[in-house]
Amino acid sequence: MVYVLLAAFPLIALLLGPIPTGGGFGWDFAMAIGFGGLAIMGLQFVLTARFRRATAPFGMDIIYYFHRWAAFGGLALLVAHYVIIRVEYSAALGSANPLVAPGHMTAGRVALGLFVVVMATSLWRKQLGTSYDTWRIWHGVMAVVAVGLAVWHIQGVGHYTRAPWKGAVWIGYTGFWVLVLAYIRILKPLRLLRNPYRVLDVRQETAAAWTVTLTPVHPPVLAFRPGQFAWLTLGTNPFYAKEHPFSFSSSAADPRVLRFTIKELGDFTRTIKQVRFGAIAYVDGPHGVFTTDFHPQAPGFVMVAGGVGIAPIMSMLRTLADRADRRPLYLIYGNWQWDGILFRDELEALKSQLNLTVVHVLQEPPPGWTGSVGFVTEKLLRQIIPPGAEDHVCFLCGPKAMTDSVSRSLRRMSFPLQRINFELFEMA
Ligand SMILES: Cc1cc2nc3c(=O)[nH]c(=O)nc-3n(C[C@H](O)[C@H](O)[C@H](O)COP(=O)(O)OP(=O)(O)OC[C@H]3O[C@@H](n4cnc5c(N)ncnc54)[C@H](O)[C@@H]3O)c2cc1C
Repeated sequence: MVYVLLAAFPLIALLLGPIPTGGGFGWDFAMAIGFGGLAIMGLQFVLTARFRRATAPFGMDIIYYFHRWAAFGGLALLVAHYVIIRVEYSAALGSANPLVAPGHMTAGRVALGLFVVVMATSLWRKQLGTSYDTWRIWHGVMAVVAVGLAVWHIQGVGHYTRAPWKGAVWIGYTGFWVLVLAYIRILKPLRLLRNPYRVLDVRQETAAAWTVTLTPVHPPVLAFRPGQFAWLTLGTNPFYAKEHPFSFSSSAADPRVLRFTIKELGDFTRTIKQVRFGAIAYVDGPHGVFTTDFHPQAPGFVMVAGGVGIAPIMSMLRTLADRADRRPLYLIYGNWQWDGILFRDELEALKSQLNLTVVHVLQEPPPGWTGSVGFVTEKLLRQIIPPGAEDHVCFLCGPKAMTDSVSRSLRRMSFPLQRINFELFEMA
């Protein structure tokens, strides 16, 4: 509701008071969708600003998905704005030659082109071979320039914003986006800078996964819920916006030390093993709604993990053990190979502290393996989860193909959708 109000606000404001006449329905409609499209594009900054209160009811991954779909909506409106004017009122567009066209008209055209580029480079980032960090910087720069040019276009055309207070509405609205940007780029990094963490330990877990242990340089400690995540900055300061999201893998019962278990995947995660004792880190969190703590009444939990997707689930298990929780827990953990299983021994030990069933599923089992092989199938889930456990709350974390298929299986096994939680490790 707040989003819809914010998106519609400039349009509603422009409709108040005297409205310029003579344009006709087509013209007014084209203008309205132009304003609406730009409002949606401006609000994209707000969606990704990680305001904890705003994201808490949904979870960050859902917000990022919404950000992606909102961009489609915003761009569709802006393209439709241009196409209607091009087809029905082409004289109003004037020359496309930037040497003779008024600056604000060229600004509008460039803004539209930039929005298309921002979308295309986001949708096909991997196919274009662009690294996430490079994409992220250019994504932000192009979006800011495009919105800036579009505001210039609106003010230059001035058709609906001629009345001083209507012009002021757009200036105020733009000011709001600038404030959000200032919060993301200046205020938030400053706050992180004031609360540094120190690396206590970097421990190798498997051939390609490491656990980094951090402790705050000075209080206060960061209180998180088991299963949540944080944006971690290591080896640089928060102003460079080089942070990466990782789930806490440690127990929430002792937030004096924070642990993140990180699998080597790309440029950043491959450097984890080089991080030394005493290095400074910054932690922006906690974020997310993937947590057992939001389900205090649940009679038990079903957890399905793939690979490093065990990290948030490990935090849940460790926390439940520290709290001496005796509710039934079923963990189905998929990996390629026996040696790749994270926390193998600790999971075994946790069985004696918790009411925990652990089932390993391997893609490439060692000779003599008598356990489950292949994917986490519905047949396997039915074998492990006893009838009547449909009131348990489920937590899935792993490759998207796995979480999708397990979630479908659980639905067929009568688990209601609201009891199936998943964390996606890929936001973009
Ligand atoms: C909520 C959440 C929790 C996560 N928890 C863990 C965890 O506990 N352990 C773990 O090993 N991994 C976790 N990840 C994944 C981890 O963030 C990426 O593997 C890591 O950022 C990859 O960075 P890279 O430079 O090494 O690899 P790259 O090759 O640069 O990136 C690989 C992919 O990771 C994603 N990615 C890269 N950088 C970022 C970024 N700054 N912000 C968001 N996504 C990015 C992109 O989809 C990219 O395609 C989590 C991701 C999310 C969204």
